[in-house]
Amino acid sequence: MVMGDLVREVDVVVVGGGPGGYSAAFRAAELGLDAVVVDAGKRLGGVCLHEGCIPSKALLHVAGLISEAERARELGVDFGEPRIALDALRTWKTERVVGRLARGLAAVAKGKGVDVVGGRAVFESSRGLRVEGDEPQKIRFAHAIVATGSRPVMLPGLAARSERIMDSTAAVELPDVPERLLVIGGGYIGLELGTVYAALGSLVTVVEMMDGLLPGVDRDLVQPLARRVEKLFAGVHLGARVAGLVDSGAVVEARIEGQAAQVFDRVLMAVGRRAQSDGLGLETTRVRPDAHGVIPVDDRCRTEDPRIYAVGDVTGEPMLAHRAMRQGKVAAEAIAGRPAAFDNRAVPAVVFTDPEVAWCGLTEHEAQAAGREVRIGKFAWAASGRAATLGRSDGLTKLVIDPASGRVLGVGIVGPGAGELIAEGALAVENALLAEDVAATIHAHPTLSESLMEAAESLLR
Ligand code: FAD
Ligand code: NAD
Repeated sequence: MVMGDLVREVDVVVVGGGPGGYSAAFRAAELGLDAVVVDAGKRLGGVCLHEGCIPSKALLHVAGLISEAERARELGVDFGEPRIALDALRTWKTERVVGRLARGLAAVAKGKGVDVVGGRAVFESSRGLRVEGDEPQKIRFAHAIVATGSRPVMLPGLAARSERIMDSTAAVELPDVPERLLVIGGGYIGLELGTVYAALGSLVTVVEMMDGLLPGVDRDLVQPLARRVEKLFAGVHLGARVAGLVDSGAVVEARIEGQAAQVFDRVLMAVGRRAQSDGLGLETTRVRPDAHGVIPVDDRCRTEDPRIYAVGDVTGEPMLAHRAMRQGKVAAEAIAGRPAAFDNRAVPAVVFTDPEVAWCGLTEHEAQAAGREVRIGKFAWAASGRAATLGRSDGLTKLVIDPASGRVLGVGIVGPGAGELIAEGALAVENALLAEDVAATIHAHPTLSESLMEAAESLLR
């Protein structure tokens, strides 16, 4: 018998070991199911741990240190010019941050009895799949969970094969600190990684096709970030597109529509991500991805095939790790016969720039677009004692309230630490708290969290 003939029988096979996949497998194992993960890289953590959330936030931490040290000069403390040892920085990110967490996940999997098989999974029917690659085998399953994530979109026509034209995976590797970096896309990745490279010393130019950065995000929240980015970056071109990129070997020549050609040492393409459902053999099942590769699922994460579930980025927007994790747990519980549903009202979103931008639930713009009447409570951080002590009075906290009931429908925050503060907003929205409840809760003084209480109080006057 050759290895490829081996047929393994499991309760649940999870395809993809990212946050959605490993959360599903861990929960399935906790519920007594025999679960196995097939991952192309034979590792847990997926894009989030190995090339996304975690390495980018490690680099943003370093960028934050550099800009705090610069700000300290205004406070009378001068650390001098930063000297950056790229090798040491890469080792810290890769070994001490990503490596340590990856080893932790592998240990958890072992502890729960979840086996991780290395290779590409290809479905052969609604009951079985084959694994291609280093550990070829066939797996027969009672249920499968597709958690294959997403991949960067590369603009057709511009996606020349050039080491100088990077996607986010290449950019977090930090190959060097280019003197001039062109960032195409002023969304999450463009702004987060643009911030990293600018802090390390690159002259960063951002080109965004829409008329504002972070399109779709509340303008009140984006404004303080846009002001900061204007100072931090060498150029921000809104309502603009890159019409051509030519790698001449030493530099990349870029044509931004309506402007003379400019040269850059590297380009980061950050124009969105696409669900990854192709090449999976789904045509042998009843799962039918849409034209964007997205697998439609119901609130229990069931696809059209009763034996196959899907979670995470492959199921579409918002493509965020914490959503994938929650869906993973729901899918495992649904398979185990528990009454689980992905019915969360608040999926918090955080852009880890400086200042951070975070929101959850209904936004003012969404309410307007839906013709829904809301009341808005705002608290500008200029009046916050804690913000003053940090030298950061540029923040804003905003509550979106149902005028009839006083219920908190949405929360938006911009300012340092907004990503941590939004947890209180998510708790309020998810649990249908009233503005009154938030206002009557004692918040420690002096903290930035008081801004939520103040915004709530502003609605009760
Ligand atoms: P993924 O993490 O994409 O994992 C999918 C896994 O499936 C991969 O390991 C892949 O190798 C494997 N796979 C694919 N096809 C097959 C196959 N046929 N057979 C076997 N294995 C397969 N989100 C946040 O919430 N916060 C952040 O701060 C954040 N920062 C980000 C920064 C960057 C630069 C990027 C790119 C993304 C960031 N994200 C962030 C998004 C986050 O990474 C994703 O939402 C999350 O990883 C999705 O998890 P997932 O489980 O759906 O899939
Ligand atoms: P994005 O959707 O956040 O931003 C892409 C931007 O590119 C948009 O503003 C879009 O208008 C612009 N764009 C598209 N085509 C363009 C063109 N031809 N020229 C100029 N601009 C163009 O996508 P992203 O930044 O690539 O990130 C992908 C996804 O990864 C995010 O949507 C998010 O789900 C996830 N992510 C999350 C975090 C986080 O949670 N902090 C961080 C990074 C990535």
